[in-house]
Amino acid sequence: MDCNVRNANYERVLAVMDKFLGERYKNVCSCPRCVNDIAAIALNYLPPHYYVEREDSKEIGSPWVMVETAVVEAIDRVMENPNHPDQKHSHSTDRPVLMS
Ligand SMILES: [Zn+2]
Repeated sequence: MDCNVRNANYERVLAVMDKFLGERYKNVCSCPRCVNDIAAIALNYLPPHYYVEREDSKEIGSPWVMVETAVVEAIDRVMENPNHPDQKHSHSTDRPVLMS
């Protein structure tokens, strides 16, 4: 079987995580476990949006604000309760407020 279905929201979540973890949430633990946990939780908040072929003219996936909210929620949850013993990663207390 040759199945090549993709999830537009998966790509959006990765794009937002990339941006947030690099800028707004620099203090967040970025080990592979936490990054994957954040991605999984964010994706579970969002409906899947599968597609076969992307049309350039069409925006697909959930609105970016929804994706960003899901990622922020996921970051919060993973940082409150990381799936590994507390290494020295700083649990940011001065987390910037999400602009709305
Ligand atoms: Zn971690």
